[in-house]
Amino acid sequence: MVQARTAFSMCTGAGTAEMARSLIQKYFNEQGYDMNIKTVAMWEWNERCHSIIASNLSWCEQVTGHREAPHLFSDIESLNPQSCYRGDFKSLSYSEKRDRILGSEMHCLQKCERCCDDLCPVPAADFGVSGLPCQDMSRAGARAMREGRTNTVYLTHAKYNRINRTPVMVIECTPDLDMGMVEDCHGPEYDFYQTMMQPQDCGHAGVSRQRTYVIGVHNQRSVVLHDPWCLQDVLKTKLCDRVTWPSDYLVATPTEIQLEAEAKARARKVVYQPHSTDLTYLLSTRELMALDQYEQEYFNRIGVPATLDEDLIVFLGDNPGYSLTWSLNGKIPCYRVNAKSGLHWSPRFQRFLTSKEKLATLGWPVTPEICTSMRAPIIPTLDVKRASDLAGNGMRLSNVGTAQILALTCFGLASSTAGSCSMDLDFQ
Ligand SMILES: [Zn+2]
Repeated sequence: MVQARTAFSMCTGAGTAEMARSLIQKYFNEQGYDMNIKTVAMWEWNERCHSIIASNLSWCEQVTGHREAPHLFSDIESLNPQSCYRGDFKSLSYSEKRDRILGSEMHCLQKCERCCDDLCPVPAADFGVSGLPCQDMSRAGARAMREGRTNTVYLTHAKYNRINRTPVMVIECTPDLDMGMVEDCHGPEYDFYQTMMQPQDCGHAGVSRQRTYVIGVHNQRSVVLHDPWCLQDVLKTKLCDRVTWPSDYLVATPTEIQLEAEAKARARKVVYQPHSTDLTYLLSTRELMALDQYEQEYFNRIGVPATLDEDLIVFLGDNPGYSLTWSLNGKIPCYRVNAKSGLHWSPRFQRFLTSKEKLATLGWPVTPEICTSMRAPIIPTLDVKRASDLAGNGMRLSNVGTAQILALTCFGLASSTAGSCSMDLDFQ
């Protein structure tokens, strides 16, 4: 699939998949492989992400030296005709919605956020990476699975792939993803290879966030070149040696910490204290109680004050009486839906993790040190709000990169499979 020339993404978020792919492309080209995949279409309904996507695409251009000019569409469900949603659509079962959506035509023109024309043609692509909604597939939720409200996104994604016969695509979700639904809505033309990944697999042992990456392969348009699970094991062995600890992610400068403290004080209507490095004054009564509970529990278990542990991060958005969301296992707890308002707190340094630090835990190049090791340009202009939007919408850069390496090297286009058979030799 390194012969793939075009790619799309749905539920694009910040464009993390595209950023990871541009790094892969740069490294592969440096190794002498001809990889030149252009992003041709993205779908993201959250308008706040659109400007982030635009600047992250510029970052991709800096990395690869190639221009990126994809169409940016907003709502993937507007690929379906309005007639699909007639009557009391929301109360229909999964199979009834499936029959309506897959049985209808697909709109081939959509409103585009990037081009001057009102409507742009919806292109097909050789490859796709989509972080599909996890609300119905999460242990933390009601686990409605295929009967949940987000099933129409999965159905529309499947419809696009079936009509365009996308050769290879990757779906990112929580490990509880309803694979039966994914197989059912894509039909017999698609075979699926499910992988599980965590940051530790790519050296980020100091963070916890397990995800599944499912590679969907059109069995008439693609051929299997290598076993993706074998290659995943090889990559894991290579990359997991570089161990990180939670304190490795505390990379914010004093100025950045104070900028976030000031923003937080404004949002919480608390008087900002410019000379205080102890940010406890910003905590609410409930958060102070939660922090106290965490510190007591830590002392009961370890026998020393929590304030001595530089690797301890506790999540104040949860009630610790109900569940302890902390880094006592050496991993910063993953960000959930309420993580944007809830604070990840360091008792040792008496402050919360900044947005830039959250991005660092996601593997993003936000400090000169990370950029040097990735040989990538720094993410531009990290003001507080933008970093926070990025952290809320970003995938883990290294995991979504690994998933794409597996998909692009283990599967080839059926018509021309030459050229990528020896790719895995570089990883041995
Ligand atoms: Zn366009």
